[in-house]
Amino acid sequence: MSLAVAASHDREHWSAIAAAVRPRLETRLFIDGGYVDALQGGRFTTTNPATGAPLAEMSAGTQADIDRAVAAALRAFRAGVWSRIPPRQRMEIMYRFAALVDEQAEELAVLESLDVGKPIADVVASDLPAVIETIRFMAECIDKVEGAVTNTESGVVHMILREPLGVVGAISPWNYPLLMAVWKIAPALAAGNTVVLKPAEEAPLSCLRLAALFMEAGGPAGVLNVVNGLGEVAGKALALHSDVAKISFTGSTEVGKLILQYAGQSNMKRVALECGGKSPQVFMADVPDLDRAVTAAYRGIFSNMGEVCNAGSRLLVERGIYDAFIERFIAEGQHAYVPGDPLDPATNMGPLITREAQQRVLGLIETGKHEGARLRFGGGIPAGVGPGSYVSPTLFTEVRNDMAIARQEIFGPVATVIPFNGADEAVAIANDTIYGLAAGVWTRDVNTAFRLVREIEAGVIWINCFDEGDMTQPFGGYKQSGNARDKCFESVVSYTQTKSAWLRLALPVQK
Ligand code: NAD
Repeated sequence: MSLAVAASHDREHWSAIAAAVRPRLETRLFIDGGYVDALQGGRFTTTNPATGAPLAEMSAGTQADIDRAVAAALRAFRAGVWSRIPPRQRMEIMYRFAALVDEQAEELAVLESLDVGKPIADVVASDLPAVIETIRFMAECIDKVEGAVTNTESGVVHMILREPLGVVGAISPWNYPLLMAVWKIAPALAAGNTVVLKPAEEAPLSCLRLAALFMEAGGPAGVLNVVNGLGEVAGKALALHSDVAKISFTGSTEVGKLILQYAGQSNMKRVALECGGKSPQVFMADVPDLDRAVTAAYRGIFSNMGEVCNAGSRLLVERGIYDAFIERFIAEGQHAYVPGDPLDPATNMGPLITREAQQRVLGLIETGKHEGARLRFGGGIPAGVGPGSYVSPTLFTEVRNDMAIARQEIFGPVATVIPFNGADEAVAIANDTIYGLAAGVWTRDVNTAFRLVREIEAGVIWINCFDEGDMTQPFGGYKQSGNARDKCFESVVSYTQTKSAWLRLALPVQK
């Protein structure tokens, strides 16, 4: 059943698929081409955040399982069953892999929705198409990676070869479980590496299926391994492993800093970090279309429940349009996202990932109120959605950039509006943060637009739109949002290293 067909299912259909999938959930680890139990037999529970009920008892990988998975990945790498096969053969396998994800879209969508509380409509319309596109794009890159022959004296040939790194460890977050994993797995595999993935413990189900689909597509055993487990156990063991050549991490800035330490404490492995954000959207008074801008503003913070690294969580609005902007935001944004059952295709807002996340977000909302920000709507738990970890879409205005709600990554549906006067102040507020992942700028003046693009410290900037892009777009942060660039051709290259081969020729001596 392909993605195109899945898009037409109604709630009953999705509930029936969920009921069929639940009794046969795979809970083991995927190592060296097959499902295996964790060596020490530990388990952790994954919960459906829409109901609060346990979904499955997952095998909890420990250091012993990471050792086993890394050993399998290293064996596969050294055997050359993936790293040395003809590039076009690798491409074919990855294209088949993408096609199988499409074929299995129904099951993957349900796993993602049950495990994370993500609206099924979003998974079908956004997450899964992006997963498939990522795998295809990275496959296309495989035979485009080139070395060089440099300009040397005539008795020498100097080649710069590009080679895979070896075993890549990938540690991924729960907010887009499949997509964030694939942003790592696909370029790493495309470059010829083997991979050990440690998904987030809040969302362990879907990536297990992914590994099996890769094998079904013809991927050799040991090339893609998935070890679920707790971050401070399995994740730490992977980041500390001396046979891992690179760790590619997406998650919080706090854990990103630990990953750098683990690399230093072990083998100086390369570290690619995609971390948190507190992205500003700057709305100048000459915004070209206020309606469109306001729609982009609430979508940019309420979609995916605000659990988005690049969420436009700080809305910087110039005083000249401040009142009109807020009036429209309240009129439209208040009702645009309605919390509901994630398996209903009409639902555009699910629960937050866990009860703890819900309590943390509600706590920050209380802090916002105490600090003097003005709560305009939301701010609590919505009625009529049962015991899931829901939070209502929330708007604060009259926010100052020194308030906790403007500084901390809330990771929930909480919009904060900060007034400003003129581009100087906009830049100062936008950059007054430890983060630098993304930003939006809205103005009809091309000079102002480019000034803001140049002066705002962020890895991705959208002009007169927000959160758009395609696979050619490097995605990653400045400052403490990280140092990596996902998507894009450059990401494949980042999973390679150069080898300089200097060949002295035995040529007749020239007269
Ligand atoms: P997290 O940092 O809590 O966990 C991320 C991953 O790290 C999980 O797999 C977790 O098990 C693992 N982990 C936790 N402690 C570890 C340790 N000591 N050693 C090794 N691994 C460990 O983040 P999260 O709550 O899963 O995800 C939300 C965060 O991810 C937010 O900060 C968000 O902004 C960020 N994020 C960033 C991007 C990006 O592209 N920049 C994309 C998505 C999410």
